[in-house]
Amino acid sequence: LFPEGTLRLLDPAAASARLGEVTDRAGLDQPGALSLDPRRVLQAWCRAPSAARIQSLEPTDGGWRLSGPSEPQIFRTVILATGADLRHLWPAAPILPVRGQVSWVAAPDPETPRAAGWGGYLAPMAGGFLFGATFRRGEVSTDLTDEDHQANLDSLAKARPALAASLAGAALGGRARVRATTRDHLPLAGAVPEAPGLFVLGGLGSRGLTWAPLLGEHVAARATGGPSPLPGDLAALVDPARRSAA
Ligand SMILES: Cc1cc2nc3c(=O)[nH]c(=O)nc-3n(C[C@H](O)[C@H](O)[C@H](O)COP(=O)(O)OP(=O)(O)OC[C@H]3O[C@@H](n4cnc5c(N)ncnc54)[C@H](O)[C@@H]3O)c2cc1C
Repeated sequence: LFPEGTLRLLDPAAASARLGEVTDRAGLDQPGALSLDPRRVLQAWCRAPSAARIQSLEPTDGGWRLSGPSEPQIFRTVILATGADLRHLWPAAPILPVRGQVSWVAAPDPETPRAAGWGGYLAPMAGGFLFGATFRRGEVSTDLTDEDHQANLDSLAKARPALAASLAGAALGGRARVRATTRDHLPLAGAVPEAPGLFVLGGLGSRGLTWAPLLGEHVAARATGGPSPLPGDLAALVDPARRSAA
């Protein structure tokens, strides 16, 4: 899958040098990998979106009636991309919520650790670094909890014990949100079953930033009748009508 040189096997000594503290485990290095600032990526993707909270969606002659803060409007084609709130507008959406919390801490620039993943992950960000994230199936609260901060510290301690110990008592920031997952862990991208003109891009789980650009093109192609970048067998895997999703 990967071109020569994009993945390198590191023995424990090399992995220790790469991590910044001693580990007795081997690792994989991706020299060209980047960590993203999601806010800046979203600003580049969605330059000036026009946003309004949609309260209801009803089939009507000639399309779908969307009711929001202003006059209802009718559209022939609608694409649902409302994350963990998908069921609000599509009650049968086969979405399973999984709460996740990341933790972050301020750090002076030279001390910002390099990105690493081990099941948990650690990523540099402006003015500090973040680490996480928790997975709590069926939970939908978005409050920050000390319990989840502790779970993230416990995970960090598996790969970076000295760094985790140095954070004892530190003031942690964080953010909690709800991931939208499906039973077969694959996204929902394409036509909503038995709802002509209604499409969905959702169920992106923990991989929205990775999957959304390609799947967005796929859903746009389905909605406009254009050619999709996805081959037929892959399109079938993410088809919202597949039985394994629910
Ligand atoms: C802790 C945590 C860590 C994560 N880490 C990563 C990671 O490292 N890499 C990665 O790729 N992904 C990660 N994810 C997953 C990623 O955030 C999601 O996959 C992605 O945000 C899903 O995108 P989305 O557009 O489907 O939904 P969202 O990003 O939730 O966007 C849905 C949008 O719809 C809007 N909306 C909802 N209802 C309505 C309505 N009725 N009317 C109008 N607008 C509405 C919401 O306000 C929101 O703006 C993480 C998630 C969590 C919780």
